[in-house]
Order: sequence, then C-alpha cells, then structure tokens
Amino acid sequence: MGGKCLAAVDIGGTTIKMAFLTVEGDIIRKWAIPTDQADGGTNIVSDIVRSFSNELKQDGLTNVDVIAVGVGAPGPADPIKGTISGAVNLGWVNNYPLKRLLEEALKLPVFIENDANCAALGEMWRGAGNGTGDLVCITIGTGVGGGIVSKGMIFTGVSGSAGEIGHITVVPENGILCNCGKHGCLETVASATGIVNLYKEEGKEAPDARAVFLQASKGDEAAKRVIDRCAYYLGLAIGNIANTMNPAKIVVGGGVSEAGDALLLPLEQYVRQYTFPRAMEVLSIEKATLGNDAGVIGAAYLAKVKTVS
Ligand SMILES: [Zn+2]
Repeated sequence: MGGKCLAAVDIGGTTIKMAFLTVEGDIIRKWAIPTDQADGGTNIVSDIVRSFSNELKQDGLTNVDVIAVGVGAPGPADPIKGTISGAVNLGWVNNYPLKRLLEEALKLPVFIENDANCAALGEMWRGAGNGTGDLVCITIGTGVGGGIVSKGMIFTGVSGSAGEIGHITVVPENGILCNCGKHGCLETVASATGIVNLYKEEGKEAPDARAVFLQASKGDEAAKRVIDRCAYYLGLAIGNIANTMNPAKIVVGGGVSEAGDALLLPLEQYVRQYTFPRAMEVLSIEKATLGNDAGVIGAAYLAKVKTVS
C-alpha cells in the first residue's frame, strides 16, 4: 500500500461500508459488512473492529500504518463528546459512546460525524463540490438527509442536529406524521416514502417512488401532480436554505435523484421562485457524483483534517 493511509467507516441500517484511502482521498480498498441490529446494536463495534483488523492483515499491515479513522453514523452526532443519539434503527438512542469504544478497540484516533454530513464532506472534497467550500448536500432516499458545509467545515449547531433538512416543516397544517415525532416534515412528502404518500392522497397506490415516476412518464395526471408537488416542497425548502446559507452549490443525491430531469427541472424552477435573487445569482444545483462512496470519502476527509497538517 505504501505510506500511511486513512480508514473510513459508513454505518448504515443494513450495511456498514468500510475503506482504506490515500490522504488525497483515493480509495485503495473498500468492502462492506452487514449491520447487526440485534441486541440494541451492541455487536456493531466489535464487528467493525474484527473486519478492520482482518483487512489490515490481508495487506500485511497493522494499525500503525493507519493515520486515523473517520466514521459516519446515522442520527445526530456530537463530534466533541463522540456520541451518537437517535439512531433508532441501530438501538443507539441516547449518547452512545461510539468514538470511545472504537478508539479503545482500534488503538487509533477516531472522529465521528453524522452520515449525511459525511456525504456532504465527500462531495465537497472529491465530488460535485469541485473546489467550493460552501455547499448544501441533500440526499433523497428512503428519507431525506442533509449536510451543510460552510467555509469547508460542517455546520453542526450546538447539539449536532444542524442540517436536518428532511425535518424542515413544509406542510404546516394537517401534515403527515414523521418518524421524528413532528408532522409535515419535508421527508414525509419528498422522500421515496413521501412520494408514495402523496400518490396515496391522490387515491392511488404504488409500490415505490420509481413506479410513480414511471406512471408520470406514461402521462398519468395524478403521478404528474405528485412529482410536481414533491419538486415544489423540495424547492421551497432549498430556497429557504439558500436564503439562510448563501451556498455556491446545492448537491442533490440519493436514489430518488436518479429520476433525473423529471424531478430536477421542476425543482430548479421552484428553487428559483423561492430564493432571494442575490443568493440565486451564485447558486447552481448539481447532481451528486460519488454515489455510495460519498460517505466513506467524507469520513476519510474528516479524519484527515483532524490529524494531517
Ligand atoms: Zn421529521
């Protein structure tokens, strides 16, 4: 492998993606293991440590060859205390000491951050960000994730929950109940699940968002209205974020963004409608380019900026 490398871990609900990367952010080797959600997520750390050690051994390396480990995890992360809260799927509900547990087992410096924030750092460093340090990343999948990067740094807020774009209220009255406990969050109407919710409100059924886009492409009026409403809610939220943060780019990723122009063209129109003109002048909307690697690349960036001068 030659020279010291960075290690990165991206913990998801079903798989844990792991990688070794160069300090420039090139992936040397990547692999994934299943996420064991049993027993309140208590096996996850030992699974990561075992897999990490095995992969090092295969390359004839030890932890001395690794500079630091960056970790992305679902739920708000407290980067100072190194704890995760509200990762309900994993059972890490209340200040789970992820950083301490990994550091003790790996004997390496570990830095943690929310997974959507890691994806935003990844896109800034090696993806659609392309040189800007001021961008907002929105990942539209089963839910809606978000990360705000300002002057090259993740904007975390006081308790790590800044950038929770999916929980911006876009339906202020009689909104659908969200997983977070609020009603009318962006996620309830503009995620893959949200698109199916809106189609249901039209009195129609679809197995997934992809099916709704397919119906729309065939001329189904209800499906077309649903996609327009989805774009409207996203555009309203993005316009308000752009007014608040004045970013250079809004980077849109995740499974739903694969729908392409069918979603992005109306979205761009609504963003233009709701963004302060001076902020709009410098703003571009771009598709994410790193796909599933954004999380590990961003986690590696986090480890790098904390350790490499
Ligand atoms: Zn919510």
